[in-house]
Amino acid sequence: MTKPTYPIGSFTPEAAQRWERIPQCLQERILANVWCGRCLGAVSIILDTAEMMEDALVLQGKCRDCGGNVCRVVEPEPD
Ligand SMILES: [Zn+2]
Repeated sequence: MTKPTYPIGSFTPEAAQRWERIPQCLQERILANVWCGRCLGAVSIILDTAEMMEDALVLQGKCRDCGGNVCRVVEPEPD
């Protein structure tokens, strides 16, 4: 059994619930594909916080390559 990937960072309870519903392969893809405006490319995020804004999950953290601030919005599931 695989546990959900929990990046180090602080999740609000709602964000944690949303994160757990994302399949692990997709979680990894989300964390490894964050746009960085300084690196001008997709980078891995070092997660600081995760919270819900409206229906979207917003992940905020730092670029693993340059340390700049990056964020990633995970749109609500279509259902
Ligand atoms: Zn960067």
